[in-house]
Amino acid sequence: MLPIHILGAGLAGCEAAWQIARAGLNCVLFEMRPFRSTAAHKTDRLAELVCSNSLKSESENSAPWLLKEELRRLDSPLMRAAQRARVPGGHALTVNREIFSEEVTGAIESNPRIELRREERVSIERDAITIVATGPLTSDALAEEISRVTGAGRLFFYDSISPIVEAESIDLNVAFRASRYGKSLDGTDDYLNCPFDRSQYESFVDALLSAEAVPAHIPEDRTPFFEACLPIEELARRGRDTLRFGPMKPVGLIDPRTGRRPYAVVQLRQENLRASSYNLVGFQNHMRFTEQARVLRMIPGLERAEFLRYGQMHRNTYINGPALLTSKLQYREDPRIFFAGQISGVEGYVESIATGLVAGRHAAELAAGETVRPFPRETAIGSLCAYVAGADPRDYQPANITFDLLPALDDATRQRLRHDKSARHAEVCRRALDKLDEYRSVYA
Ligand SMILES: Cc1cc2nc3c(=O)[nH]c(=O)nc-3n(C[C@H](O)[C@H](O)[C@H](O)COP(=O)(O)OP(=O)(O)OC[C@H]3O[C@@H](n4cnc5c(N)ncnc54)[C@H](O)[C@@H]3O)c2cc1C
Repeated sequence: MLPIHILGAGLAGCEAAWQIARAGLNCVLFEMRPFRSTAAHKTDRLAELVCSNSLKSESENSAPWLLKEELRRLDSPLMRAAQRARVPGGHALTVNREIFSEEVTGAIESNPRIELRREERVSIERDAITIVATGPLTSDALAEEISRVTGAGRLFFYDSISPIVEAESIDLNVAFRASRYGKSLDGTDDYLNCPFDRSQYESFVDALLSAEAVPAHIPEDRTPFFEACLPIEELARRGRDTLRFGPMKPVGLIDPRTGRRPYAVVQLRQENLRASSYNLVGFQNHMRFTEQARVLRMIPGLERAEFLRYGQMHRNTYINGPALLTSKLQYREDPRIFFAGQISGVEGYVESIATGLVAGRHAAELAAGETVRPFPRETAIGSLCAYVAGADPRDYQPANITFDLLPALDDATRQRLRHDKSARHAEVCRRALDKLDEYRSVYA
């Protein structure tokens, strides 16, 4: 039997190792800290939460809750550690980060099937099954190796994320559909455009200039800025018209309601595979999430916007999942190599844990000579993997779990529940958990 190596003992790597041990197999888990650290980790403990201590909403029938509930049903040790480390945090699963990583470190170190080796890996062994789970701050030497193994240009160093809003929350009486100069990629009008008049634009720039920023997580978070993807508040600081000549330029766009070119425009682009959401083109920023909600709702047409994701900027190493991975998180050219966690192209703590669980279970199945059994598409876990493997590889962006990654309900149910969004979400969750329970009853 081939040995199983897991590179990186963060959230994904620890979950993967524990799942392999649970399947009765041995594995080696490599962690480079404390001998080599990253710019964001502060301790030598495993599964360190580098920034916020929130594992997001525990409100029943929300998408983040569904993902956690699936993990709990699949016996995730990291979810157990989170429960033990829980501190009051309203509707969110908020944890004491020290207790959380101590719990995980203890569970890994005391497991006789897991050998923890504190060393930096710089290559992927050919004679092993390998799960690469080295996270957004993968060491440079390994990043180069992954780039070499998977083909040049396919490893991304990602520095900015634009906010995403729910389609239903955009006011279509204000936002209009059009492509610049009528040039569309597929014959349709590709963008929704939110038009500003002069006074709206001036107020928006003032709000940007006075908005509170997130403190830098790591030194390279802020400086130097990459000139090609500057945060919008930095553009506003460079001059009152800079945005109007940059991401908010109105050229080639006529508002059908006025028959004139707006003073400035924010363009919204439909997300691939997320038919029901749009991203704000070029709107990466460093504002606090509460400030983003306040300032971005000043955009005409977005007054009642529901944000599925806020803008962020930090170093992020990830592969182009759709170009390289199957929905079982295996590298297409060599199924003995799995990717999990942030480097596989998901975003967030719980999403990283979930892909660690998937890669761990599938690696164990492969090592044992069994069929690798994908998770049902209707589940949050299955949908996350489907996104990683099936989104449009052009301009691929990592995703958090949201309902628009899950398959739509059938027409009749959608029609029946058309006036009740909470009931639709509850139905998506019920369907997901039923499918997961069926899967577990066969492959516990
Ligand atoms: C600055 C920053 C802030 C973030 N804030 C949040 C947040 O608030 N909320 C949220 O949900 N998500 C956040 N994320 C995104 C993401 O969810 C976390 O980074 C998460 O920890 C990813 O889990 P992971 O298992 O993929 O990687 P990690 O938890 O980072 O684990 C990877 C491990 O691999 C080790 N490693 C790296 N290279 C090697 C090597 N060559 N050999 C051996 N070991 C290696 C690292 O030391 C690390 O322990 C943030 C990311 C960054 C960079």
